[in-house]
Amino acid sequence: MQRRTFLTAGSMAAVGFGVSACGPKSAPNVTPRRPAVNLAPVKASWDRVIRTTVGLRPHRDSGFVLKADKLDDKLVVHNYGHGGAGMSLAWGTGLMAAELAADHPSRQAAVIGCGSVGLTCARQLQRRGYEVTIYALAIPPNVTSNMSLAGFTPTSGLVENDRRTEQWDAQYLRAADIAYRQLQLLAGPHFGVSWLDNYSLTNDLQTQQGGGGERVNLQERFNIGREVLGPGEHPFPTKYAIRSPQIRIEPSIYLDNLMRDFVLFGGRIVLRKFDTPRDLMTLREPIVMNCTGLGARDLFGDQELVPLKGQLTVLVPQPEVQYHTNGGVPPVPGASLGIHMMARSDGIALGGTSQRGVWTLEPDEAERMRVVEGHIQVFGAMKGARA
Ligand SMILES: Cc1cc2nc3c(=O)[nH]c(=O)nc-3n(C[C@H](O)[C@H](O)[C@H](O)COP(=O)(O)OP(=O)(O)OC[C@H]3O[C@@H](n4cnc5c(N)ncnc54)[C@H](O)[C@@H]3O)c2cc1C
Repeated sequence: MQRRTFLTAGSMAAVGFGVSACGPKSAPNVTPRRPAVNLAPVKASWDRVIRTTVGLRPHRDSGFVLKADKLDDKLVVHNYGHGGAGMSLAWGTGLMAAELAADHPSRQAAVIGCGSVGLTCARQLQRRGYEVTIYALAIPPNVTSNMSLAGFTPTSGLVENDRRTEQWDAQYLRAADIAYRQLQLLAGPHFGVSWLDNYSLTNDLQTQQGGGGERVNLQERFNIGREVLGPGEHPFPTKYAIRSPQIRIEPSIYLDNLMRDFVLFGGRIVLRKFDTPRDLMTLREPIVMNCTGLGARDLFGDQELVPLKGQLTVLVPQPEVQYHTNGGVPPVPGASLGIHMMARSDGIALGGTSQRGVWTLEPDEAERMRVVEGHIQVFGAMKGARA
């Protein structure tokens, strides 16, 4: 298909060349257009569903917490509350958390938590010469981080605009820049980090603008290489497909290899639950990094932490599908989010839910129906789909 498109475009170019070289100059009668993008469709159907997973994003309306405190003679550095952006931002907040510990004379640190935030914080400490032990109630694959989609979405479910302060924005922008650079350097099969094209599917370019009126647009610097593909230039059932390259993280590969690297550099992992801050006093390490995500609500009494429940329904992997999509069907009134699809080696992940204040880890059947049916509609109408 792609080859035929290429030949057609090539022969049109040859005709155009012939006219201008041999005859009088006139406008070509064929509008030059980009060759249509050729993509393998997702085989979206209920009989290809292999699992549905649920995770609770650790959200705070005023954004993540990154600060140092004293607890008796221990230094406690808080690094939690990353909402829907904890896979994206963790290397950045991890480095900044390590900086907050640097004035302390000790180089022995305990990291509480073994998700994306704890593991990256632990690695940032090791890179600075610390001896680190991770203590956690659960480790991958049994943490929220494994339930993530996980694209580079540094602003997703992170902060309410009216709660942002200048100081928080500055902290955020530095964390996001560090994390973006770090993830770029991890690209490759070992960490399961790669670049894929994201297609935002829409009939209306106006609604895709967004981000206006903010003092600082938190997302803008990461919107790179954006191209609007019009009718005939893409295989999707919508009028437009806005293409932009984006980083994809495959959580199970990524988190397992972060753990391996942590151990390789002398780290220890201890399974342990902490019920109160007093329990931390029994640790031998003078520096404690609190990377407990939603767990910080009970452990440190942070009542601003609230879950944004998200679920993914996963289809049989299709190695020929190497892109992700957002939208494609009209928004369902009252739905928590628009739908999205991420192709990964462990399956085609279909998502688009964010239920505030919902604590259950049971899948929501109505949301599952909406997300799967929406994708059946999008990919069933895609060019090249099975009849
Ligand atoms: C459906 C879905 C899609 C998502 N998509 C994206 C995305 O595309 N991009 C993105 O960046 N993010 C995404 N996220 C968000 C991301 O998953 C979270 O921001 C991230 O996992 C938070 O990481 P964490 O390390 O803080 O928490 P967790 O992974 O939950 O780790 C917390 C750790 O702390 C430990 N712990 C907690 N309390 C205690 C205690 N009292 N004692 C001992 N240990 C404790 C836990 O056992 C665990 O080890 C998504 C989330 C969901 C659910």
